[in-house]
Amino acid sequence: MKILVIGSGGREHALVWKLAQSLHVERIWCAPGNAGIAQERLPKNGAMVECAAIGAEDLPALLEFAKEKGADLTVVGPDNPLALGIVDLFHAQGLRIWGPNQRAARFEASKAFAQRFMEQYGIPTARAGTFEEPAAARKFAASLGGRCAVKADGLALGKGVLICRDVEQSEQAIDEILVKKSFGAAGRQIVIQELLEGEEISLHALCDGKTAKLFPTAQDHKRAREGDRGPNTGGMGTYSPTPFLSEAELADAGKKIIEPWLRGCAAEGIDYKGILYPGVILTREGPKVLEFNARFGDPETQVYLARLENDLIELLEASIESTLGKTELKWSPFTSVCVVLASAGYPGAYPKGQPIHGLEEVAQLPNVKVFHAGTATAGKQVVTNGGRVLGVTAWGETLEKARATAYATVEKIHFEGAQFRRDIGHKAMVLA
Ligand code: AMP
Repeated sequence: MKILVIGSGGREHALVWKLAQSLHVERIWCAPGNAGIAQERLPKNGAMVECAAIGAEDLPALLEFAKEKGADLTVVGPDNPLALGIVDLFHAQGLRIWGPNQRAARFEASKAFAQRFMEQYGIPTARAGTFEEPAAARKFAASLGGRCAVKADGLALGKGVLICRDVEQSEQAIDEILVKKSFGAAGRQIVIQELLEGEEISLHALCDGKTAKLFPTAQDHKRAREGDRGPNTGGMGTYSPTPFLSEAELADAGKKIIEPWLRGCAAEGIDYKGILYPGVILTREGPKVLEFNARFGDPETQVYLARLENDLIELLEASIESTLGKTELKWSPFTSVCVVLASAGYPGAYPKGQPIHGLEEVAQLPNVKVFHAGTATAGKQVVTNGGRVLGVTAWGETLEKARATAYATVEKIHFEGAQFRRDIGHKAMVLA
């Protein structure tokens, strides 16, 4: 099969790496890709993965490219092309593509839709209200003592959620989104949720429109600095599995979250094929869903695919063909850890074009894979080209071993101003 992967981050590098190992794949293109993706080779036939300079939101150009190359399947990484309807567009032209269609992608693209859906089908979530009027929003936030999350309805580059701890902060947040319109049309409506307390974990389920198969748990580290301090980021590191949910508790979370979600999809005629990724807080009353994402997490994908033993193409095919019920997901018992190396200043402004040293040396190490995110090549030199630059992913029999390998690898990689958290997975060892 010939595959086109859309996106340019660490998630897409992990997808390309895993797809390259598939027995069914002969050729891979990635649009737009990154420096690490362009260095991947298919073990089966030696073919290099090729990157095409087409943006992930340039739907007409992606369609043209898929047709021109005769891609048998397109795999979508990021949320934006899904929200823009890339799946519907490819289907209308008779092309095979994996991911939720535009209607199904609303679980991520509209927080108001997701909240209404969760309430209607009894999915455990935070107490919440949806508002367009600032006065009504302020009143609801005040009824929560100002302790709330104020969320722009639409996609806002992961920045549309403002966490408030008192009434003044909540009024500022409401003002920011509904009055000053800092997030533009994405903030025409807001969802205000009560603040939940507990460990935050990521769930992923692969869905085929009828069935959903839960992945093991993973935990992201969203804050920039150790001890969960500093500003929110796209994610500074992950590990899988987490010790916070036993197998039985995970199965129970599936019953309480995924089963009613599937019933709701059936009732509303939503044909969801792709990954459903609920962000969950383990509260004292049990797991509650904060939000749904309609794609693989980043950097969750890196730790999941390091553990997945199935041929990924077979899973994506089962998701498209609605045959997941007959498929078993197989996971390595190893723990995997991903430590993100970011540019100085991230998540604020950061420089680009810094040379990265040490990549060739670590490419030979066992039980490690360095996934690229914001990288490019300048001549023969790999240089930084984004906020999150690399995801150093390692695996081992225990979390301790995986962490030791990941951090020993991190020490061998250098670029000017590189920042990373030294405590990825630490909480699991202390609190478990
Ligand atoms: P979201 O994009 O909705 O997942 O929100 C981004 C981050 O804000 C989450 O990963 C949580 O850390 C935090 N957050 C969102 N909603 C809540 C909530 N209701 N209670 C506590 N934290 C929240």
